Amino acid sequence: MKCHACGNTRIDAAMGRCPLCGFPLMHMVGDGADPEGMLRKLSGEYREQKLSEITLGFLTYSHEMRAGRLVRSGVRERAFSVRACDLPVGEIVWEDGDFARIDEGEAITVTLVIGEGEAGRQVELSMEAPDTEGFWHVGLLAEPGFAVRVAVGDSKACCRSEAVPLLLKEQEGQEG
Ligand SMILES: [Zn+2]
Repeated sequence: MKCHACGNTRIDAAMGRCPLCGFPLMHMVGDGADPEGMLRKLSGEYREQKLSEITLGFLTYSHEMRAGRLVRSGVRERAFSVRACDLPVGEIVWEDGDFARIDEGEAITVTLVIGEGEAGRQVELSMEAPDTEGFWHVGLLAEPGFAVRVAVGDSKACCRSEAVPLLLKEQEGQEG
Protein backbone atom coordinates (compact mmCIF):
# COMPACT_ATOMS: atom_id res chain seq x y z
CA MET A 1 0.00 0.00 0.00
CA LYS A 2 1.02 3.57 -0.45
CA CYS A 3 0.32 6.63 1.68
CA HIS A 4 -1.33 9.10 -0.64
CA ALA A 5 -0.39 12.07 1.53
CA CYS A 6 3.40 11.62 1.68
CA GLY A 7 4.24 8.84 -0.77
CA ASN A 8 5.47 6.33 1.82
CA THR A 9 5.24 2.83 0.36
CA ARG A 10 6.25 0.94 3.51
CA ILE A 11 2.84 0.71 4.97
CA ASP A 12 0.38 -2.09 5.49
CA ALA A 13 -3.31 -2.30 6.17
CA ALA A 14 -2.82 -3.25 9.83
CA MET A 15 -1.37 0.20 10.59
CA GLY A 16 -3.96 2.76 11.53
CA ARG A 17 -1.90 5.65 10.22
CA CYS A 18 1.09 6.24 8.02
CA PRO A 19 4.09 6.00 10.41
CA LEU A 20 5.90 8.78 8.55
CA CYS A 21 3.27 11.48 8.20
CA GLY A 22 0.34 10.36 10.34
CA PHE A 23 -2.22 10.31 7.54
CA PRO A 24 -4.99 7.92 8.65
CA LEU A 25 -5.57 4.87 6.53
CA MET A 26 -9.06 5.08 5.20
CA HIS A 27 -11.27 2.09 5.48
CA MET A 28 -14.40 2.58 3.49
CA VAL A 29 -17.70 0.92 4.01
CA GLY A 30 -19.22 0.03 0.70
CA ASP A 31 -18.19 1.64 -2.52
CA GLY A 32 -18.72 5.35 -2.85
CA ALA A 33 -19.21 6.89 -6.23
CA ASP A 34 -15.51 7.69 -6.54
CA PRO A 35 -13.40 6.26 -3.69
CA GLU A 36 -10.10 6.99 -5.49
CA GLY A 37 -11.06 10.59 -6.07
CA MET A 38 -12.18 10.98 -2.48
CA LEU A 39 -8.89 9.56 -1.18
CA ARG A 40 -6.89 11.84 -3.48
CA LYS A 41 -8.86 14.85 -2.26
CA LEU A 42 -8.47 14.00 1.44
CA SER A 43 -4.77 13.16 1.19
CA GLY A 44 -4.11 16.32 -0.82
CA GLU A 45 -5.87 18.39 1.82
CA TYR A 46 -3.87 16.70 4.58
CA ARG A 47 -0.58 17.36 2.76
CA GLU A 48 -1.51 20.98 2.20
CA GLN A 49 -2.61 21.45 5.81
CA LYS A 50 0.64 19.96 7.15
CA LEU A 51 2.96 21.79 4.78
CA SER A 52 1.13 25.02 3.95
CA GLU A 53 3.23 27.09 6.38
CA ILE A 54 6.51 25.75 5.02
CA THR A 55 8.47 27.91 2.61
CA LEU A 56 11.72 26.78 1.06
CA GLY A 57 14.73 28.71 -0.11
CA PHE A 58 18.49 28.57 -0.27
CA LEU A 59 21.38 30.95 0.25
CA THR A 60 23.35 32.33 -2.65
CA TYR A 61 26.69 34.05 -2.34
CA SER A 62 28.05 36.80 -4.49
CA HIS A 63 31.71 37.55 -4.97
CA GLU A 64 33.63 40.50 -6.31
CA MET A 65 37.19 41.38 -7.08
CA ARG A 66 38.74 43.69 -4.51
CA ALA A 67 42.36 44.68 -4.82
CA GLY A 68 42.95 41.77 -7.16
CA ARG A 69 41.36 39.20 -4.87
CA LEU A 70 38.00 37.48 -5.14
CA VAL A 71 36.07 38.12 -1.95
CA ARG A 72 32.57 37.25 -0.83
CA SER A 73 30.50 40.41 -1.05
CA GLY A 74 27.05 39.28 -0.06
CA VAL A 75 24.64 36.54 0.94
CA ARG A 76 21.07 36.46 -0.22
CA GLU A 77 18.19 34.15 0.33
CA ARG A 78 16.52 32.94 -2.81
CA ALA A 79 13.09 31.40 -2.48
CA PHE A 80 12.02 28.34 -4.40
CA SER A 81 8.92 29.16 -6.37
CA VAL A 82 7.29 25.80 -5.72
CA ARG A 83 5.33 25.29 -2.51
CA ALA A 84 6.41 22.45 -0.22
CA CYS A 85 2.96 20.86 -0.43
CA ASP A 86 3.06 20.88 -4.24
CA LEU A 87 6.37 19.02 -4.63
CA PRO A 88 5.86 15.69 -6.36
CA VAL A 89 7.43 12.81 -4.41
CA GLY A 90 10.37 11.21 -6.21
CA GLU A 91 10.79 13.83 -8.92
CA ILE A 92 13.29 16.71 -8.93
CA VAL A 93 11.83 20.17 -9.47
CA TRP A 94 14.53 22.53 -10.78
CA GLU A 95 14.70 26.24 -10.17
CA ASP A 96 15.43 28.29 -13.25
CA GLY A 97 18.41 30.20 -11.80
CA ASP A 98 21.88 29.66 -13.29
CA PHE A 99 24.77 29.34 -10.86
CA ALA A 100 28.49 29.26 -11.36
CA ARG A 101 30.03 25.84 -11.42
CA ILE A 102 32.68 24.58 -9.02
CA ASP A 103 35.11 21.86 -10.04
CA GLU A 104 33.64 18.40 -9.98
CA GLY A 105 34.25 16.31 -6.86
CA GLU A 106 34.93 19.26 -4.60
CA ALA A 107 33.06 19.48 -1.33
CA ILE A 108 30.32 22.10 -1.33
CA THR A 109 27.91 23.23 1.34
CA VAL A 110 24.43 24.26 0.35
CA THR A 111 22.27 26.06 2.91
CA LEU A 112 18.60 25.17 2.72
CA VAL A 113 16.27 27.67 4.37
CA ILE A 114 13.08 26.16 5.75
CA GLY A 115 10.58 28.79 6.83
CA GLU A 116 7.77 27.80 9.13
CA GLY A 117 5.28 30.60 9.61
CA GLU A 118 7.11 33.31 11.51
CA ALA A 119 10.15 31.19 12.27
CA GLY A 120 12.68 29.56 10.06
CA ARG A 121 15.75 27.43 10.21
CA GLN A 122 18.80 26.92 8.08
CA VAL A 123 20.17 23.49 7.35
CA GLU A 124 23.69 23.18 5.99
CA LEU A 125 24.05 20.30 3.58
CA SER A 126 27.40 18.88 2.57
CA MET A 127 27.54 17.64 -0.97
CA GLU A 128 30.03 16.92 -3.67
CA ALA A 129 30.18 19.14 -6.72
CA PRO A 130 28.50 17.35 -9.63
CA ASP A 131 30.12 16.61 -12.96
CA THR A 132 28.28 18.99 -15.26
CA GLU A 133 29.29 21.01 -18.27
CA GLY A 134 27.08 24.05 -18.03
CA PHE A 135 25.67 26.19 -15.28
CA TRP A 136 24.43 24.64 -12.09
CA HIS A 137 20.81 24.66 -11.13
CA VAL A 138 19.32 23.95 -7.76
CA GLY A 139 16.40 21.61 -7.36
CA LEU A 140 14.25 19.97 -4.74
CA LEU A 141 13.43 16.29 -4.51
CA ALA A 142 10.55 15.42 -2.22
CA GLU A 143 10.91 12.16 -0.32
CA PRO A 144 8.25 10.05 1.37
CA GLY A 145 7.38 11.31 4.84
CA PHE A 146 7.45 15.07 4.18
CA ALA A 147 11.21 15.33 3.63
CA VAL A 148 13.26 16.91 0.86
CA ARG A 149 16.69 16.54 -0.64
CA VAL A 150 18.46 19.40 -2.39
CA ALA A 151 19.85 18.61 -5.83
CA VAL A 152 22.66 20.57 -7.47
CA GLY A 153 23.60 20.19 -11.11
CA ASP A 154 21.27 19.77 -14.02
CA SER A 155 18.80 17.23 -15.31
CA LYS A 156 21.65 15.11 -16.75
CA ALA A 157 24.05 15.02 -13.78
CA CYS A 158 23.42 16.10 -10.26
CA CYS A 159 24.37 15.49 -6.67
CA ARG A 160 21.77 15.08 -3.98
CA SER A 161 21.95 15.99 -0.33
CA GLU A 162 20.80 13.93 2.59
CA ALA A 163 17.05 14.01 3.24
CA VAL A 164 15.85 16.84 5.49
CA PRO A 165 12.53 16.58 7.33
CA LEU A 166 10.27 19.52 6.55
CA LEU A 167 8.46 19.37 9.86
CA LEU A 168 10.10 19.46 13.24
CA LYS A 169 9.15 16.52 15.44
CA GLU A 170 6.89 18.45 17.77
CA GLN A 171 4.86 19.81 14.87
CA GLU A 172 4.11 16.44 13.38
CA GLY A 173 1.73 15.34 16.10
CA GLN A 174 -0.72 12.53 15.60
CA GLU A 175 -3.87 14.61 15.61
CA GLY A 176 -4.17 14.89 11.86
ZN1 LIG B 1 2.37 9.28 4.85
